[in-house]
Amino acid sequence: MEQVNIGTEGTRARIIETLFSRRYLEVKAGKVEVTKIGYCIAEVLSTFFKELTSVELTRKFEEYINNIRFNRVKRESVLNEAKKTIDKLIENFKKSLYDIGVILSKSLNIIPVNRKCIICDNEAVVDKPALCKYHLLAYEKLIKHYWIWRKAFESLDWINYLKKIIRLKSSCGKWVREVAQAIYERKIDVDLSSIMLNNQ
Ligand SMILES: [Zn+2]
Repeated sequence: MEQVNIGTEGTRARIIETLFSRRYLEVKAGKVEVTKIGYCIAEVLSTFFKELTSVELTRKFEEYINNIRFNRVKRESVLNEAKKTIDKLIENFKKSLYDIGVILSKSLNIIPVNRKCIICDNEAVVDKPALCKYHLLAYEKLIKHYWIWRKAFESLDWINYLKKIIRLKSSCGKWVREVAQAIYERKIDVDLSSIMLNNQ
């Protein structure tokens, strides 16, 4: 929010408090992590309520509030605009109620998923290796970066690359580290020769 310049220090702090109190964030080993339900809510919001999560919508209403403060616009017209926006969101919510319920229920293990990711309990979006969408993205990133690293450090072999990634606690995402760990522990088979060919 700070980077895109929306909210104030006060509202940002309150939002972070809310994220913790709703258990969308937690502290693990001294680090803030997004919880499973946190990821799930973010997915639901970005899939079904794109407008609600957009920076533009927040910015628009912040401008309206400023305009009210300087008497450039009437409070009632802003309230009407807000009401219209919320009505539209509720309408969309009602239409997508079933799909949202399925996503949330799968995430909370209320209904079973077809196949599970071999790293976490989320639903796998691909077979061989069975990975959820987050671990699949991380897997692709890991493979792609190996090729980039190999160009820079020719002597770097695959196992040492994985070890480096697993140790890179701060600058590397948790999903990528988990995939590197799973490959290192041979829970995932990687056909390096085909990857090398594809990247040549
Ligand atoms: Zn996963």
